[in-house]
Amino acid sequence: MLTIRFDNSYARELEGMYIPWTGQPAPSPKLLILNEPLAEELGLDPKALAGTDGLAMLTGSAMPETATPLAMAYAGHQFGGFSPQLGDGRALLVGEIVDRNGHRRDLHLKGSGPTPFSRGGDGKAALGPVLREYIMSEAMHALGIPTTRALAAVATGETVRRETALPGAVLARVASSHLRVGTFQFFLARGETARLRRLADYAIRRHDPDLDGHADRYAAFLRRVIARQMALVAQWMAVGFVHGVMNTDNCAISGETIDYGPCAFLDAYDPKAVFSSIDQHGRYAYDQQPVLAQWNVARLAETLLPLINPEDPEAALPDAQDAIEEAPDIYAGAWRVQMGRKLGLESADTADEGLITGFLSLLAGERADFTGSFATLAAAARGDDAGIRDRIADRSALDDWLGAWRKRIARETGGAARAAERMSRANPVYIPRNHRVEAALASAHEDDLAPLHELLEVMRQPYTRRAGLEAFERPAPDDFGPYVTYCGT
Ligand code: AMP
Ligand code: MG
Repeated sequence: MLTIRFDNSYARELEGMYIPWTGQPAPSPKLLILNEPLAEELGLDPKALAGTDGLAMLTGSAMPETATPLAMAYAGHQFGGFSPQLGDGRALLVGEIVDRNGHRRDLHLKGSGPTPFSRGGDGKAALGPVLREYIMSEAMHALGIPTTRALAAVATGETVRRETALPGAVLARVASSHLRVGTFQFFLARGETARLRRLADYAIRRHDPDLDGHADRYAAFLRRVIARQMALVAQWMAVGFVHGVMNTDNCAISGETIDYGPCAFLDAYDPKAVFSSIDQHGRYAYDQQPVLAQWNVARLAETLLPLINPEDPEAALPDAQDAIEEAPDIYAGAWRVQMGRKLGLESADTADEGLITGFLSLLAGERADFTGSFATLAAAARGDDAGIRDRIADRSALDDWLGAWRKRIARETGGAARAAERMSRANPVYIPRNHRVEAALASAHEDDLAPLHELLEVMRQPYTRRAGLEAFERPAPDDFGPYVTYCGT
């Protein structure tokens, strides 16, 4: 029996901001993968989830009585152009669960069938993109980066038409909420200030409860969201993650990474790296991510002006502008700390920036593997340079940099030895390498889930090098070619 104690605050408190809806029955649901530790964390019984009622819920076919499935309304700037109505076109919010740690989590389905927001789309998701999101989001979580989680992937038994016919699937994901910048934009665009206020107060109760009821809460909330986004993007940069589609509807108020579409991890370091087939002008390139995150929070700021100063929204502008203009400094501080740790520094300051950018220039000059190069540095701190020397051909530039770096880490408390320990905790050995992800998805299409499970298992401990997993450290073979990702979920 599937019994779930949902507590659906969104449905209860934000009437008029969603459409109650149910999914389309899946003809022949088959569980592909279930995240048992996450199920336990949510207080859900993995066996019940894998049973008939569980699979009905996880595909959106039939819901437990306590669920209030709904399609959320939102708008969004996509590649800079505003769409006043997007919304859950192939997704449903099933309900909210207060987990074992007392945290409220959304249970959400992607690929559960058309909704009133589908705009001509089929409301479905294909197997490949569903498993891709599963792999990438769980890898990000294991890397210690705020993210939505993957609870389950279920094949529907249906064929989904894209460029070719593909097997259909539904992803069940878990998030601290699905409130996006685009959710606020939806109500601003319609001039619905009362709803905007209800939404903002709800978001504050959910994500920044200490601000609840304060007179200046909306301005303070804006600063919180800015801080979360800047910290998040700094973490992306530190692991070489390229989100690929940083539209405002894919920018979560919670500060979690959301909507894994054409995302990928850097292999060869190139600040201009773009993987997404549709990002032809490099709008969401690796090095553009901090700028775009700032752009996104500026769109949130616009929606909050009429709440900050209802009589005269224009008068709220200078202060909001200040908050937005502080974003690059907040980002730079977070980035310095992240990148400093990768070089063994407990808390890097502005004087260390040259050391960080110096190493990145070495990598860029040789298009060296980003993850692999950082992963060799802990050994270099212990005196073994062979790894990094293998990767950087420009000996004199490398020697200069190593000299300066050694001097700097010697000044850290505990010296180079402690720095090396810090580096092992900051530099992942394993990332979901593009060729590994593709291989896992290709096998899944042949009903072989072993490579998927193996990759997920490797990624559960990305910072711990283990014997026998050398192949997972290596970048793609040359014949893999340049990597291109597609939205197509
Ligand atoms: P995304 O690319 O996932 O950020 O989605 C952008 C918007 O397109 C959202 O409103 C989605 O609900 C909608 N969308 C994407 N794919 C489909 C589909 N197959 N059917 C209906 N709506 C879709
Ligand atoms: Mg989206």
